[in-house]
Amino acid sequence: MRLFRPCFFAGWLYPEAIFRIKTDEKLLCLTFDDGPDPDSTPMLLDLLESYNIRGLFFCNGQSAEKYPELIDRIISGGHVAGNHGFSHPDGWRTSTQEYVQDV
Ligand SMILES: [Zn+2]
Repeated sequence: MRLFRPCFFAGWLYPEAIFRIKTDEKLLCLTFDDGPDPDSTPMLLDLLESYNIRGLFFCNGQSAEKYPELIDRIISGGHVAGNHGFSHPDGWRTSTQEYVQDV
């Protein structure tokens, strides 16, 4: 897990995306990237369920195709499944056009 702050050009690349919401509530957003993974995703879902917590799972298309039952479990558990690209190319070695196409 890591703390994440979107890079400065994320808002330019994805103008429709929501990166921040002003609120006075004390909120914590848990996100999990690069899944679903048969080793870690079920464990995470069990843990979140035990605390009645919902998370955001940013999934790769290739893994989602490989483990559709985990996508079903994410969604049926009330979590959010987000798009983390299809094949997760290296952003530093991939053209913007290819990267956006992958997403
Ligand atoms: Zn990733």
